[in-house]
Amino acid sequence: MQRIEPQCGVAFQLHEKQLLTVTDLEGEQVADLVAFNAADIGECLSSGRSIDYANTIYLTTGNILYSNRSRALLTIVADDVGRHDFLLTPCSPETFQIIYGNCEYHPSCFENLAMSLKQFGIAGDFIPTTFNIFMNVVISPNGALDIQPPLSRMRDKIVFRAEMDLIIGLTACSAEMTNNYRFKPIGYEISE
Ligand SMILES: [Zn+2]
Repeated sequence: MQRIEPQCGVAFQLHEKQLLTVTDLEGEQVADLVAFNAADIGECLSSGRSIDYANTIYLTTGNILYSNRSRALLTIVADDVGRHDFLLTPCSPETFQIIYGNCEYHPSCFENLAMSLKQFGIAGDFIPTTFNIFMNVVISPNGALDIQPPLSRMRDKIVFRAEMDLIIGLTACSAEMTNNYRFKPIGYEISE
C-alpha cells in the first residue's frame, strides 16, 4: 500500500478495469479525489453529472462517477463508510482566507492536486469539484451545510474500478474542521 503523508497529495495513472482502494489509515481523515481521461484531459470528473444520474448526493457502492461528457470514469465497488461529499471544492489557499480569515500560508488539497497533476499537463484551472472521500457534510432542511468529523474509522476503505484509462489526483486533506482538527495520512493501492 502507498501512503500519502498528512496534508500532501499525489497523482498517478489508473488503467481501465484496475481497482483503486483508498484507506483511512487512522480514522477521521478525508481524501479528495479527482479523475481525468488519460487520453484527453478535457474530460474530467463531474459532480453535477454524477449527482444527476445517481439521483442522490450520497454516492456509495454501485454508483458511478461520471465525466463532464457523461461517460463513466469510476464505479464505486465497495464502501465501508457510505458517507462522502461531492458538493464542495477541494480546500484551497483562498478557502482558508475567505472562510477562516487566515492570511498566513496554509497547505491545501487544491495546491497539492495542482502540483501533482502538473506532470500530466493538467493546470489548476482544470481541477473540478472533487469527490471528497470520507468527508461528512450534514445538510439542514434550510440548505445550510455543517462540516462534521468523518464517520470513517481506522482501516475503513472505499474501492473504485476504473471504467477507462485515467489520471487520478488524490490527497490527504489539509483542512482542520474537515478532519476533526488532526491531520493524518491516507493509504491507497492499485490492483488488477
Ligand atoms: Zn482539503
